[in-house]
Amino acid sequence: MKSPRLPIALQQAVMRSLRDKLQQANQRLERHYPEPKLVYQQRGTAAGTAWLEAWEIRLNPVLLLENQEAFINEVVPHELAHLLVWKQFGRVAPHGKEWKWMMESVLGVPARRTHQFAIESVRSRAFPYRCRCQQHQLTVRRHNRVTRGESEYRCVHCGEKLLPGTFTPV
Ligand SMILES: [Zn+2]
Ligand SMILES: [Zn+2]
Repeated sequence: MKSPRLPIALQQAVMRSLRDKLQQANQRLERHYPEPKLVYQQRGTAAGTAWLEAWEIRLNPVLLLENQEAFINEVVPHELAHLLVWKQFGRVAPHGKEWKWMMESVLGVPARRTHQFAIESVRSRAFPYRCRCQQHQLTVRRHNRVTRGESEYRCVHCGEKLLPGTFTPV
């Protein structure tokens, strides 16, 4: 999927959120943690990910564009908290008590583990196929191959050729 162009003002707001929260954490923890690298290369349905050793936060540009407030208020602190917890405590459970404490007591943000975003625009389209025994989903690429007569696919369970459509148990 092509990445959308992000307005400069939005990138600045994201960066400001990151810097504000980092400064707040450094003050409260009495540390000098450096600013993580911020990249807009997260793909798929995840809002963002934290890369501990790389000290990097990856944000999903498609979801960012559609959920600007939530990213600035929640996703950025959420991922920053993962990095800070790793520096502060080492490897612990990703959303355990250390992370919750970092979010709520240090960064002052409600510690929600996941974000509820509409993901239609980042979900890869899949096409329903069926065999004798179950429902299958083919990727756009495979579906196109079937349509053009270039490939056929078989179910590994029943061995039957997959046909477009929805499986109905009998
Ligand atoms: Zn997380
Ligand atoms: Zn089958």
